[in-house]
Amino acid sequence: MSTATATAEVRCTRCEVHAESVFKIDGLCCSEEVTILERRLRPLRGMEELVADVMGQRLHVKYDAALLSSATIADAVAETGMRAWLEHEEPIVAPASGARGRLLLVAAVALAAGLASAALGAPRAWQVACSVVAVVAGGVYPAKKALTAIRQRTLDINVLMLVAVVGAMVIGEWAEAATVVFLFAIAQWLESRSMDRAREAIRALMNLTPTEARIRSGTHEHRKHVDVVEPGATMIVRPGEKIPLDGVVAAGRSDVNQAPITGESLPVEKAEGDEVFAGTINGHGALDVTVTRRRRDTTLARIIHLVETAQAQRAPAQQFIDRFARWYTPAVIVLAALVALVPPLVAGAPFQLWFYRGLVLLVIACPCALVISTPVSIVSALAGAARRGVLIKGGVHLEKLAEVRAVAFDKTGTLTKARIKVIEIRPLGVDGHELLRVAASVESRSEHPIAAAIVGAAREGGIGVAYASDARALPGLGAEGLVDGALVVCGNPRLFRERGLMTPEAEALVASLEGSGLSPALVSRQGQIVGALGIADEVRETAAEVVAFLHAQGISTVAMLTGDQPGPARAVASRLGIDDVRAGLLPEDKVAAVQAIRAKAGAVAMVGDGVNDAPALAAADVGIVMGAIGSAAALETADIALMTDELPKVSYAIRLSRATVRNIRANIAISLVLKAAFLLLAVSGFATLWMAVVADTGTSLLVVANAIRLLRHA
Ligand code: ADP
Ligand code: MG
Repeated sequence: MSTATATAEVRCTRCEVHAESVFKIDGLCCSEEVTILERRLRPLRGMEELVADVMGQRLHVKYDAALLSSATIADAVAETGMRAWLEHEEPIVAPASGARGRLLLVAAVALAAGLASAALGAPRAWQVACSVVAVVAGGVYPAKKALTAIRQRTLDINVLMLVAVVGAMVIGEWAEAATVVFLFAIAQWLESRSMDRAREAIRALMNLTPTEARIRSGTHEHRKHVDVVEPGATMIVRPGEKIPLDGVVAAGRSDVNQAPITGESLPVEKAEGDEVFAGTINGHGALDVTVTRRRRDTTLARIIHLVETAQAQRAPAQQFIDRFARWYTPAVIVLAALVALVPPLVAGAPFQLWFYRGLVLLVIACPCALVISTPVSIVSALAGAARRGVLIKGGVHLEKLAEVRAVAFDKTGTLTKARIKVIEIRPLGVDGHELLRVAASVESRSEHPIAAAIVGAAREGGIGVAYASDARALPGLGAEGLVDGALVVCGNPRLFRERGLMTPEAEALVASLEGSGLSPALVSRQGQIVGALGIADEVRETAAEVVAFLHAQGISTVAMLTGDQPGPARAVASRLGIDDVRAGLLPEDKVAAVQAIRAKAGAVAMVGDGVNDAPALAAADVGIVMGAIGSAAALETADIALMTDELPKVSYAIRLSRATVRNIRANIAISLVLKAAFLLLAVSGFATLWMAVVADTGTSLLVVANAIRLLRHA
């Protein structure tokens, strides 16, 4: 946060949101720890109130959500060795009801009375009295905020407004002062309401999960709060219910709507052994689910955490605004002073008139719309994307994606279907059953899509898989491990050639499989090739259309980086219209390939899986991971994580990134142009104080309304 340290920071306090969170703290046992927590947390910028409850092991905090997030607080607690997890979080909505609402009402009545009495020609003293009541009633809260700002040596709209109102009263513009105060109070209310809309998408995510789960223990079932359900417990999910925690289906069969997490509205079939996720909605079947994660670790909890962190980050466009705002406001204040003083002192112009114009300038000095122009666009874009199952880990990545000139795709599982199938089983010297058994035993320890295909084939054939010890992945090549004490290797021909295990018989097998369009996976035991599996690596139906979209968007290079053989790689590429094919790459070669593409074309986005493409994803300007829902590693690796493996989401992300950049530019332009126009009107004496307030608020509302459109961008 670049401006966090600047003393003369300009902040739009109209749109701030305060929040109240309750954390459960593991390791909070006595008052000593309370001191430790306080020492660590109190200095956090934005921290407002902190109450520790040792008995309940809870921490209640109030903070300014514009400066601090629950995630930052949890991280700070983690540094003390304790562990915090969010139990409850809620924005504190400044109540328009209660005392504040009544004051507003008083201000409105007094203002109306004052204006009416002026129109009816009531005595001036009466008009002044009405205005004073309106100013006091409407101005108490802004004045309080202004004093806080002054104490923190910052300039905000409240301070400027306070000066303007006091100034107006000094020169006897009573009705004007009352109108300004009242409009300002209404404006604050309007603006906070519209900002809330941009944030509510994320809040909706948080409210997704049920608070109780139905747990079976022995023969009876009871309801239990999700916070205290431990992994291993069996929960019962009835048809139509929301799933309370992540788990694996132990019994039953159902269709589950995962749209709350993935944005994909087609229900997904779930049967024994399949993973289900908290926040998703069970369809027609009843499920017994073995809980696998505590509430704080669920996929949904991680998503919320990531989105929150992302929203708290500053995008590059924001830094420009920060720099601009830092000199803009003081400059306008100086200008206001000059306008108020110079004409009367130098030219003997009427003091009253020029002082008033100075005041109008002062109100215009707050770059409120400009300050919110970028964050509100980014927050909307990130929230809208999250709702569609696209997790973007910060405005930076969104801005970078908009500038990308090249997109590189991984092949297996990315351009081709994740659910790969074993089509051919060609044993050599053993039977097919045994071939599949040893292969699946090794592969059951690997995360590669090919491994999943082989294990799936064994499962379908009812073949029991042995436990492979010392299993290890050979990235880009295959996998190996000890099965019944014998070393089993499963992988591509390159691996076997490198190890000198190839035989003419095996080469013939490879050629025949490749001839029928299948990718071969060879299997050896104790150095002896026992056969090959022919794997169908089917291109996704949507792949060609995505490649065409990228070309149409002016992305000059669409490349394919693969560890597969050049033959099958080229076949896939030509069907998709990909011009740049790099095959036979090991994971580290993919890093070099990304760098080569960048040198040639410009910024590169890499689309792959988070498991063995991690180095290349990190090397790219933007790393996009597909199918992240089941993989914590994938979620961590990516700059942008697509929860499902729908390739068109890549197109969506690129469209959204460009729309966001356009939106930010439009917002900045709106703010600057309207400000400039009003500045001119003010200096030339056409603008009044209340117009300045309306213009300022109007611009902010316009900017917010424009940004919110990104929530619905498709
Ligand atoms: P891609 O870059 O196309 O996604 P990878 O780098 O993941 O491919 O793998 C490259 C090649 O290595 C695959 O085409 C496959 O032949 C082989 N391979 C990798 N992992 C495995 C595995 N677990 N089992 C069998 N073969 C594998
Ligand atoms: Mg891959």
